[in-house]
Amino acid sequence: MQKIMRMLTEGLAGIWSNLAISWDSGVLIDVISRFVMWGLFSLLLVEVLRDSYHALCHQIDWLAKWHNKHHMAYRRDLSIVSAKAYQDSQLYHDMLESGLLVIAIAIIAVFSHEIGFGLGVFYASGFLYAASLRYFLGTMDTDYAHRPGALETTPSPWWVNRSYHWRHHFDDVNAYYSGVFPLVDKILGTGLSLQGKTIAITGASGALGQALSQELLRQNAKVLALTTNPDKLAVEDTGNNRFKVLSWQMGKETELKEKFEKVDILIINHGVNVYGDRTTEGINSSYEINTFSALRLIDIFSSTVTGPQSKATKEIWVNTSEAEVSPALSPLYELSKRALGDIVTLKRLDDPCIIRKLILGPFKSKLNPYGVMSATQVAKGIVFFAKRDFRNIIVTINPLTYIFSPIKETMTWLYYRIFSQKKKE
Ligand SMILES: [Zn+2]
Ligand SMILES: [Zn+2]
Repeated sequence: MQKIMRMLTEGLAGIWSNLAISWDSGVLIDVISRFVMWGLFSLLLVEVLRDSYHALCHQIDWLAKWHNKHHMAYRRDLSIVSAKAYQDSQLYHDMLESGLLVIAIAIIAVFSHEIGFGLGVFYASGFLYAASLRYFLGTMDTDYAHRPGALETTPSPWWVNRSYHWRHHFDDVNAYYSGVFPLVDKILGTGLSLQGKTIAITGASGALGQALSQELLRQNAKVLALTTNPDKLAVEDTGNNRFKVLSWQMGKETELKEKFEKVDILIINHGVNVYGDRTTEGINSSYEINTFSALRLIDIFSSTVTGPQSKATKEIWVNTSEAEVSPALSPLYELSKRALGDIVTLKRLDDPCIIRKLILGPFKSKLNPYGVMSATQVAKGIVFFAKRDFRNIIVTINPLTYIFSPIKETMTWLYYRIFSQKKKE
């Protein structure tokens, strides 16, 4: 017994002195940092491989056959169709997918000679283990993304929550492929599908309104062009059911509520620029058109976000303009647009639906004849970033906006979050 104790203590002392030597020489630090670095990389790689495989499943027929077992297992409220459908989905989708993932990451681990990749193998094996348990024990405890019931929060931009993944099942199966981090969707431009969506846009007869309508039609969306000047609209309402024109009046926003019930995305894009004017009329019209009318539209549209799944698909995009952070050489334009931008930040705290800001630089239009970008370029930029699920879409040639806008947005968000409260129901 004594002999064993002595061997143990000698052994431990040996390990300790070796570790101490390693620590002194920095070798241990090197080993740990390599392990952490490659370990984290392997976790990211697992997610990217899985999401890429998922995207392929929706392109290649013979992969789709197995993957569709997953889609067939759920109803619209994410309740399970039947125990048989669920067990099939575990075998043909979850176990198959995670099994392939374990093999792929294990091969990479062997060839890379990096012990950190073990973390990726362990992580992927966890999914295989969970799916196997569900299949062999016949349990039906779904993962977080597939919990049944109404969707109470909007899709998160940072990780794949229930609302985010629900859209893959029931909004567009050819988008929203990501499983945990929405990285692959950002790369592929599948973070938002515009396909078949009904999109209402105000200021539709302006330069950006017309360019954006064209770009949205190219994305196979249906456009409802809202304008206070229907005669100025170059594109005519040809009666085709993908482009409709509707005239509206400032101050009578409530009349649009019925239309908004069937609208997926509302783009608030109308505005006025009084340039150097500083009269009372100039102040009133700037705030009335650029700020208050926009806010009324936000409230009316938000009141139509009522169905159990509407938080997942309904969105508002607000053209708050670069004037929120940069000079627009027009004091009242800046003031009224900044007020709008700040109140949008305030409203986003209550999460009524996704609200994106369009922070745009100077483009050529009637409001700004000296604009340097073309409205078509700006429209393409907006759609590019929206499809990558950017919540603050910056399209400008001014490099300072890319720096100041995120800082200002974060600071304002934090300040409003601390000093304002949600109204108790
Ligand atoms: Zn799913
Ligand atoms: Zn799928």
